[in-house]
Amino acid sequence: MEIKKVVVIGSGTMGSGIAAQLCNANIPVTLLDLTTEISEKARERIQKSRPPLLIDKSKINNINVGNINDNFNLVNEADWIVEAVVERIDIKHQIYEKIFNERKAGSIVSSNTSSIPISILSEKLSTEDKKDFCITHFFNPVRYMDLLEIVKSENNDLSKINSLKKFCEEDLGKGSIVCNDTPGFLGNRIGVYAMQVAMTEAFRMKLSIEEADAIFGRPMGIPKTGVFGLYDLIGIDLMADVLKSFIKELSKEDEFQEVAKEIPLVKKLIETGYTGRKGKGGFYRMNKVENKKILEAINLETGEYSSTKKINIKFDKPGLQNLINREDKYGDYAWSVISKIIKYASSLVPEITEEFNDIDEAMRLGFNWNKGPFEMLEEIGVNNFFDKIENYKGNKFLEDLAKTKNEKFHGVRQKYTDIETLGKVKKTATSIDGNSSAKIYRFKDYNIVEFTTKANALDYNSMDALKKATDKPLIIINESMQFSAGVNLSYTMEFAEKGDFKSIEKFVRYFQETCKNLKYSDHPVVSAPSGLTLGGGFEVLVHSNFVASHTNIVIGLVETMVGLIPAGGGCKEMLARWLETEEAKNDPHYAPLKVFDIIGYGKTATSPVEAEPMKYLRSEDKKIMSRNSLLEVSRKILEENRDFKPPAENTFNLPGKVVKDEMIKLLDKLYNEKVILDHGMKVASELANVLSGGDTTIDKTLSEEDLFKLELNAFMTLIETKETQDRIKHTLTTGKPLVN
Ligand code: NAD
Repeated sequence: MEIKKVVVIGSGTMGSGIAAQLCNANIPVTLLDLTTEISEKARERIQKSRPPLLIDKSKINNINVGNINDNFNLVNEADWIVEAVVERIDIKHQIYEKIFNERKAGSIVSSNTSSIPISILSEKLSTEDKKDFCITHFFNPVRYMDLLEIVKSENNDLSKINSLKKFCEEDLGKGSIVCNDTPGFLGNRIGVYAMQVAMTEAFRMKLSIEEADAIFGRPMGIPKTGVFGLYDLIGIDLMADVLKSFIKELSKEDEFQEVAKEIPLVKKLIETGYTGRKGKGGFYRMNKVENKKILEAINLETGEYSSTKKINIKFDKPGLQNLINREDKYGDYAWSVISKIIKYASSLVPEITEEFNDIDEAMRLGFNWNKGPFEMLEEIGVNNFFDKIENYKGNKFLEDLAKTKNEKFHGVRQKYTDIETLGKVKKTATSIDGNSSAKIYRFKDYNIVEFTTKANALDYNSMDALKKATDKPLIIINESMQFSAGVNLSYTMEFAEKGDFKSIEKFVRYFQETCKNLKYSDHPVVSAPSGLTLGGGFEVLVHSNFVASHTNIVIGLVETMVGLIPAGGGCKEMLARWLETEEAKNDPHYAPLKVFDIIGYGKTATSPVEAEPMKYLRSEDKKIMSRNSLLEVSRKILEENRDFKPPAENTFNLPGKVVKDEMIKLLDKLYNEKVILDHGMKVASELANVLSGGDTTIDKTLSEEDLFKLELNAFMTLIETKETQDRIKHTLTTGKPLVN
């Protein structure tokens, strides 16, 4: 079965997200709704979405729109028909009747339902039609959430399910896990249970919501929104509906029932309009006191709000074992929550899936957990777990494991895919070195560097790992959400606050040296970014000989936002790229001015299609929809470049003062219009000095070292100013830029 054309019925949140992702994959798609006007509105929403659902906004008209009365004949041309209408069985049944009357033989039909079992969805279909019907459960927002659950029934033709899976994996880039027809499938069954446990245990153990979120968050390898923050984000009312559906669908004996019971405080929040971020607030709310916005948190016992308290759980020694063995209420809470999640997840194997690893992967892909329940068990250690756990009677998985106490029970990862992913390779590769910021693996005849810090911010240790790893062909790749958000600003600020500028200078020099080494070492270096690839992260990429980029990237040089300029070779490499253009050959001012515009405004691109015109990516860089495939593509690049020779060093002929004056003129205009203020002027002037080549003229040839020196001088001048330090501190505390 080949999928060449798709019809999506229902153009709400999910239908439009699915249509946009098909458009991203260059698959002709039609969106149908009750009226064409509704589908047209959906197309407008797609175009304006932030973060953008489309990789290339100019392709919006490749999404065809129509209505279910006049345009239903299009269903007849589709190889795949996706139903994404409201979650009402009567409406869904009506739609299926129409689809199965109209569709061409052999096409596949799927529903995006989040809670209705296939057995009920398909109860009115003939046995023949049931063969071609399944559930494709995408997550919102479709472009960015990697999980797709394909729910099959015993009636399905498995070869067809497998070809749909292959299409969703390769063309749509989704981590596609096939599972059984059970309530909530994999992700939501475990994910919602975990949230409910984290919430009910916080009530029972009398933790504040800030404390619960501080533990059921980063320390457990879970996104920092925690449980109460996530509740507010999803919508407290929506969560109540989800729970009602679980209570109805699951057996009375299911452990889930215990944690899904209505909580009076939650009921009251919904009744009074405190439905979360979309409502008046939720567990957290923004309050205005004397014209100042204050974030408040609810007291779970009294229901009163007071300003949030920053919780420092003093978690110096990372790792789940340290967390659960703490002899305080935080340790007790962590153990109680984690052990219940492990117990519940393991009790569902093989009912919801034969492969327990599928549950782990669903939690990674759908909930952005670092590790799923079985990997948590592996990390805690099987013997440690059984020393601590009290009752697991009737849980066959745990009873069997208790007999073998096999510490290596987990085996390979990502069993759901045939792709040789980083997750799989990491388990068999030799860990050859590493430090607190990065790990180095050796696999066959090449190295992998995986950054491991928060948002993969870079520091001295990250550079150390990169430098060491160039003794073999190297792939820089990781599994976390961001490739790298840039240099670790807290690390830089620690030195600045002590007035220790020598250490900062030493770090910047080391950064430059490492980047240069990436570019000119004897072995090829491939960067495989996904997510944020900013500042120093981009500088690592731009010095790599090859790039295999995921289509979901946010890439750019944003240093000016924090009062700095790129000093790890970012200015240098961007100049080199722009100097290669035809325009630059005819006009010596062209390249410096272009780069000045891009770096000066801290421009970013949200996809390779946006990145190429700015030259953050090159046309020859590989762009890949499937994140799972990044490693395979990178390895192929290395194989194709076995006789790699490092490139010749770049040289630069730059106009010096004449182009700098032109830049300053542009800045004066912006300053007079108050677009930039005093320090903005200072930062941009330093940038102008670097990009014009400093004290030079067009007939003088500058080396890469000369450019590095200019970058370093500008960086050091700026970091020593109070205004740049103010900008950095502001961004570190608020996440937003300071205009000064
Ligand atoms: P939505 O309310 O945003 O959109 C539903 C759309 O269906 C609307 O545009 C509506 O006009 C249209 N519709 C209603 N009756 C129709 C009919 N007879 N013919 C054609 N169109 C009709 O809903 P949504 O959030 O996109 O959810 C769609 C499906 O996806 C539901 O089954 C839901 O459970 C599931 N789902 C939602 C999410 C989520 O986060 N929103 C996640 C996963 C799955």
